[in-house]
Amino acid sequence: MSLFRPFLSRRPFAGLVASTATFVFGFIALSTGSARAQSTPSLQLVMGNPSGATTSVSNTNNYLMQKPQYSLAYNKSHATPNWVSWHLGPQDLGSAPRNDAFHTDTDLPSGWYRVTNSDYTNSGYDRGHNCPSADRTATSADNYATFAMTNIVPQTADNNQGPWAALEDYCRTLVNSGNDLFIISCPNHYGTTTIAAGKVYVPSYMSKVIVVLPAGSSLSASAVTTSTRIICVDMPNTAGIRANSWKSYRISVDQLEGYTGYDFLSNVSTSVQSVIEARVDNL
Ligand code: MN
Ligand code: MN
Repeated sequence: MSLFRPFLSRRPFAGLVASTATFVFGFIALSTGSARAQSTPSLQLVMGNPSGATTSVSNTNNYLMQKPQYSLAYNKSHATPNWVSWHLGPQDLGSAPRNDAFHTDTDLPSGWYRVTNSDYTNSGYDRGHNCPSADRTATSADNYATFAMTNIVPQTADNNQGPWAALEDYCRTLVNSGNDLFIISCPNHYGTTTIAAGKVYVPSYMSKVIVVLPAGSSLSASAVTTSTRIICVDMPNTAGIRANSWKSYRISVDQLEGYTGYDFLSNVSTSVQSVIEARVDNL
């Protein structure tokens, strides 16, 4: 929403410069045999910081964490991320096996409660990835990183294993057919439902904003035009939706911004945002 635009518009080119450098160095690294070509923190936040999260430890419910594999805004009160943002390109898809080692995130500030694997045991909810395990298979270290509990939310099995998983699969299909994606996952609409004796809150909706850029585009917000495909979904985190198509949950980014108060794609020019955020994907 407009609340965050003045803050972010002060540095419109930071993401462009960083991501271009990453791409160039990544390409060189790839050609010399490194599979970690694009696992750099700067690449994960190219489209913007939807909630204006910061690295101040006093910003307890909007705390920015930038990892090589994804960036997130942590909410200490919910013990979940407000959003998780990452780039997904062909270099991210390799042969590393699913690690499955859910672990406490030691990158959290000292003194903050660190969610454990067992907090979700018998909770009735899946350990739902925001940045999926299967989006980070270039190296075992990349895959392991997706099992940090700061990347996880309590997600119903029908959502996680139904339309949510189908959309994750579709994203990798888009990459394999010649696209680079920028993805922001946004669990939202928290009520009073909790697990782990009140320590972890359950979002009522699972949402996602996906920017689809043809391979060869600069990996920057300035590559987004009024004709760029944007997929935005908002799925209830409930039982009974397993057989539903992810396509039935598409909304506009404007709608999601209204629901969440966040400004997605804030590094994209406001004139382009106004066009692409009003549209509902229909491909
Ligand atoms: Mn999942
Ligand atoms: Mn926006």
